[in-house]
Amino acid sequence: MHIQNLHTHTAFCDGANTPEEMVVAALSKGFDSLGFSGHSYMTYSKYLGDIDRTEEYKKAISELKIKYKDQIKIYLGLEVDMYSEPKMSDYDYLIGSVHYFKICEEYVGFDKSEQEVEDIINTYFNGNGMEYAKYYYKTLAQLPQYGKFDIIGHFDLITKHSDNRTFFDESSKEYLNAAFEAAEVLAKKIPFFEINNGAVARGYRKSPYPSVPIIKRLKELGLGAVITSDSHSTKTIDCGFELSTELLKECGFKEKYILTDDGFAAVSL
Ligand SMILES: [Zn+2]
Ligand SMILES: [Zn+2]
Repeated sequence: MHIQNLHTHTAFCDGANTPEEMVVAALSKGFDSLGFSGHSYMTYSKYLGDIDRTEEYKKAISELKIKYKDQIKIYLGLEVDMYSEPKMSDYDYLIGSVHYFKICEEYVGFDKSEQEVEDIINTYFNGNGMEYAKYYYKTLAQLPQYGKFDIIGHFDLITKHSDNRTFFDESSKEYLNAAFEAAEVLAKKIPFFEINNGAVARGYRKSPYPSVPIIKRLKELGLGAVITSDSHSTKTIDCGFELSTELLKECGFKEKYILTDDGFAAVSL
């Protein structure tokens, strides 16, 4: 059935459950494969604690690959925060994400609460939400300079609070042009983007990232779609899969991509 999630967090980063608990949850939901995408360690952020636990994470996932090999295919991935520059060999796949800006040698995380985002816009962008959005897309467009990524993570992460709060007009030409410019640059270097249900899973949003106009533009540019739950707990491991499938169909997609032992493969929706 090709039920797979490639965006899975565990207690090695900011998830609630152990990798094995996530594997058991995936099995109970009928998954035939599961990819782990722990956050890369960031020297500039206390977000994941003081210690780099990447090696422990890699070892734990590799052990589960063997332990569950007759029941489920397990892949070892990493969600790389763009500026963190971790060692990127040894992984089955890489998600490239931007959660931090680097403004005058200061790292500014914006995947935060509504209030914190407002403070960032006031402090660094003179209260101008559109400038914040444009800065994000300029930063996102630099992803390929930092690694060879398979998947663009949550393309329009800055819309996290859009259901409740308008920091910028998402339907405006100015906004969409900024997003599309980034898409054009990224399309030359990164083959896939994700329909990411992380904000749906955590109750911030009713629809996944990215927005419909961006999905359609990414399709025109030839990027393939991967459906993910960006799950941080066993309860949400398959969050939004059906909704995302319908969304892709509405946007004209006939297929999605999954990771196999032979690389990414298209499967019909
Ligand atoms: Zn992320
Ligand atoms: Zn994530």
